[in-house]
Amino acid sequence: MSVTAQSVWNSCLKFIKDNIQPQAYKTWFEPIIAVKLTENALSIQVPSKFFYEWLEEHYVKILKVALTKELGETAKLVYIIKMENTYGNKQPFTEKIPSSNRSAVKSQDVDIPFNNKSPELRNPFIIPGIRNVKVESQLNPNYSFDNFLEGDSNRLARSAGLAVANKPGGTSFNPLLIFGGVGLGKTHLAHAIGVDIKDKYPEKTVLYISAEKFTQQYIDAVKKNNRNDFIHFYQIIDVLIIDDVQFLSGKSGTQDVFFHIFNHLHQNGKQVVLTSDKAPVDMQDIEQRLLSRFKWGLSAELQTPDFETRVSILKNKLYRDGVEMPEEIIDYVAKNIKSNVRELEGAIISLIAQSSFNKKEITIDLARIIVEKFVKNTKREVSIDYIQKVVSDYFQMDIDTLQSKTRKRHIVQARQLAMFFAKKFTKASLASIGSQIGKRDHATVLHACKTVDNLSSTDKQFRKYVEDISKKLSV
Ligand code: ADP
Ligand code: MG
Repeated sequence: MSVTAQSVWNSCLKFIKDNIQPQAYKTWFEPIIAVKLTENALSIQVPSKFFYEWLEEHYVKILKVALTKELGETAKLVYIIKMENTYGNKQPFTEKIPSSNRSAVKSQDVDIPFNNKSPELRNPFIIPGIRNVKVESQLNPNYSFDNFLEGDSNRLARSAGLAVANKPGGTSFNPLLIFGGVGLGKTHLAHAIGVDIKDKYPEKTVLYISAEKFTQQYIDAVKKNNRNDFIHFYQIIDVLIIDDVQFLSGKSGTQDVFFHIFNHLHQNGKQVVLTSDKAPVDMQDIEQRLLSRFKWGLSAELQTPDFETRVSILKNKLYRDGVEMPEEIIDYVAKNIKSNVRELEGAIISLIAQSSFNKKEITIDLARIIVEKFVKNTKREVSIDYIQKVVSDYFQMDIDTLQSKTRKRHIVQARQLAMFFAKKFTKASLASIGSQIGKRDHATVLHACKTVDNLSSTDKQFRKYVEDISKKLSV
C-alpha cells in the first residue's frame, strides 16, 4: 500500500478531529492542503502567515502527536504559506469602469483623482465655520480588547482584530470584515481595533464611522457640490472603520464612492475594517465589484456565545461595576439569556438596579422575574415553517405544492413570496432558507427576493399580496 501526503494527512486529521472542538477543527484544519511527503517530512499548505502562527501557537502539540503516530519519532512538519494575495501585490487593484456602468450619480460622473494631495481638506465631521485639521477618531475608549471577553464564538474575529491592530494594513486581513447578528459585539470589536491602533500608533489617522452616517455625509456632499472634498477627506485616513455596511444595500451612489475610497486606501496599504449583520454571500443589493473587494481579506463571524463565555462576560461586567452577585444567580441569567450579549448585559443591569432601588437582596426569585421579562419582551421570531404555512394558506394551496418543482406561475410566485418573507423576518441565511423551502440553492432565494421587490413596485395586484401577507405575519 502506498503512503502519500494525502493519506498521511487524512490519518492525522482523523486523530485531530477526535480531539478538538468541531468549530476549531473546521476553522483551522479543514482549509489545510497536504502537498508533499518526503521520507519523514510532510508539507502542508496553510492559507496565510497568521494561520501558520496560530497553528504553531495552539495546535503544535496535537500536530506532533498525530504526525509521529504516522511517520515515527523523526517526523517533521513543513508549512507552506500560500501567497498572500491581497497585500504586497504589485498589480494594480483599480479597475477602469466605463462611465455607462456607473450605476448612480449620473450627473456627477466625474473621475476621482487618486493621488490628489489636497492641501485644504474639508472635514465632514466639523461644524461649518470651525476649522479643524485634526481628524477626530470618533472612537469610544470604553470598547477595548481587554473588556472584549474571548470565547469559541469570537476567537477568530477577536484574534484577527488583534493582528490588524498590531500591523494595520500589514496583514492579509484587508479588509477585515466582522459579521454576525445583533448584539454580538461587532461595534465593540470595531472600536477596540481602532482604540488599540491609536494607542500603538498615535500618529496614524484612524476613523470610525457608521455606514449610515457615511451615507448621510455623502448625500450632503453631493447636495453642496463637495463630492470631491468628501472623497479627499476619506482618502487621507490610515485606518477606516465602517460599521454596519449592510446599510449600504441598495444605495448605489454611496457604494460607488465607497468603492473608490476603498481602492485608494487598499492600494496605499491602508487598513479597512468593516462590520455587517450578514455574511458577504447573504448581502443583498450590494454591487458585485464591492462584494468581491470584501472577500479579498478575511470575513470573520461573531457567533452567539456559549454558556461559559456568557458567564465570563457577566462576571467581568459585575467586576468592573464593583457589584457582587451569588454564583447561582449569574448562572441562572447566563443559562436563560442566550441569544445576544446586549440582552445579557441588559438583564444584569436591571437586576442590579431593581435590587438597589428597592433595597432588596438579589435573590434567585428576583432574577427569575427579571429574566422572564427580558425573554418575553424580546420579539418572537417567526419561523420559516410558519411563513410557509401563512403563504400557502393565503393562496389556498398546501405546503407540498408550495415546495414542489412545478413551474406553474401562481405556485412559483407563492414560493418566491415565502422566500422573500423568510429573508425579511428571520435571521436565516439564503442557503438555509432555500434548503427549507423546497430544497433550492441560495441563488434561487436571492433571485426570488429580487423578483418580489420588482413585482411589488410594478404590479398592483402583487403588491397587495405582499401587504396582506405582511399583515398576517406581523400579528
Ligand atoms: P453589535 O454591534 O454586534 O450589535 P455591540 O458591539 O453593540 O453589538 O455589543 C453589544 C453589547 O455587548 C456591548 O455592550 C458590548 O460591549 C457587549 N459585548 C459583546 N460581546 C462582548 C464580549 N465578547 N465581551 C464583553 N462584552 C461584549
Ligand atoms: Mg453595532
